[in-house]
Amino acid sequence: MSVHENALNQIYRAASLAGISQDVLDILSIPMREVRVSIPVKMDNGEQRIFEGFRVQHNNWRGPYKGGIRYHNNVDLDEVKALATWMTFKTAVAGIPMGGSKGGVTVNPKELSEGELERLTRGWTRAMHGVIGPEIDVPAPDVNTTPREMAWIADEFGHPAVVTGKPIEAGGSEGRGVATATGGYYVFDKLRDRLFVDPEMGTIAIQGFGNAGRIFAGLCARHELKVIAVSDSSGGVYNPEGLDITALQNHKDSTHSVLDFEGAENITNEQLLELECGVLVPAALENVITEENAARIKAKVVLELANGPTTPEADDILFEKGVQVVPDVLANSGGVTVSYFEWDQNMKGEHWSEEDVDAKLKELMHGAAEEVWARKLKYSTDLRRGAFILALERLDSARR
Ligand code: NAD
Repeated sequence: MSVHENALNQIYRAASLAGISQDVLDILSIPMREVRVSIPVKMDNGEQRIFEGFRVQHNNWRGPYKGGIRYHNNVDLDEVKALATWMTFKTAVAGIPMGGSKGGVTVNPKELSEGELERLTRGWTRAMHGVIGPEIDVPAPDVNTTPREMAWIADEFGHPAVVTGKPIEAGGSEGRGVATATGGYYVFDKLRDRLFVDPEMGTIAIQGFGNAGRIFAGLCARHELKVIAVSDSSGGVYNPEGLDITALQNHKDSTHSVLDFEGAENITNEQLLELECGVLVPAALENVITEENAARIKAKVVLELANGPTTPEADDILFEKGVQVVPDVLANSGGVTVSYFEWDQNMKGEHWSEEDVDAKLKELMHGAAEEVWARKLKYSTDLRRGAFILALERLDSARR
């Protein structure tokens, strides 16, 4: 099954429970617009290389299209279509007035100099003239793109509101860097009592110690939740009594790895996923909980900070085992929510304080978590289908 078919499968499974009309599903099965461009770039050695770029605009019933731009060798139209589809659902679950899109360039950015990357990014922006725009479609960072690339896009286009995830000095929002983890924490906090039969099970294992995982670990520590294991691409560390997260962050900064942390046992990423714990937080890669290992997952709750960490087959196994999966479209929607705040500030010529951004984020995340939980109860289903049902209801109502 292609990634796009996989995304559609998730939508159909939810729609069949909630009686969503076939007309709506037919429209949501096909992006509203798919754009493919070629971008000629003068390389540092004087030669020209032509790169392939994409923008897929899935749906804009609820507002301007919104979605990141990814630089990766594996970027192709099918992947971008799937990611754009998920964005429509994520913005609808979060309750922000935006639609869903995604973009990308097929490139290994590590092979390009900074100057070549800048010319590529500016070339993509020029090629997307008339396709993106503050009231049309607003890109943001994704895999291998950062605030630096967003600043180039804003500069080339000539308006800060054309893109989000910019550096603060180029019109970025306070709180964007911590938004995904903070939003995930607010969702977890709202649902915590309902997810845990036994509050003593509040131990946390986190896969990934980058933007999402590391900040989430810090938030857990601040709220006196016991983080017993974390990992990065080199492997993991485990201490059933809890890890000192500040010391671990310092250790990672000085050694570039979480391994060999004092007082903790080194474990593999596979072992981390299968630990006895309350909450397992995949915050690194997609497809890490699969048909192969789902039966061995011992966590009571899986909080998906990563995009697509659980395959549909694994989802069914976890549901049967009674493991609650808080889906990515809800758990990591804090990032796109603060992206929307950034766009809103740029459109109004405002700059909100970190406290304001945090308060608005908390309100939206708590609201989204409540609404998803209500759908889960109403349709006796899992939280993923509950989230997709909520999004479908909101999309259908916007259409009408
Ligand atoms: P990041 O690059 O900052 O961090 C990724 C982490 O994963 C790093 O610690 C890396 O060492 C680790 N990792 C890489 N390969 C691994 C492996 N094989 N096993 C275990 N760990 C591995 O990325 P991020 O921004 O934290 O994003 C992580 C996930 O969260 C992605 O799925 C991303 O799509 C999702 N997400 C992030 C945001 C955001 O705002 N940062 C928003 C929504 C979703």
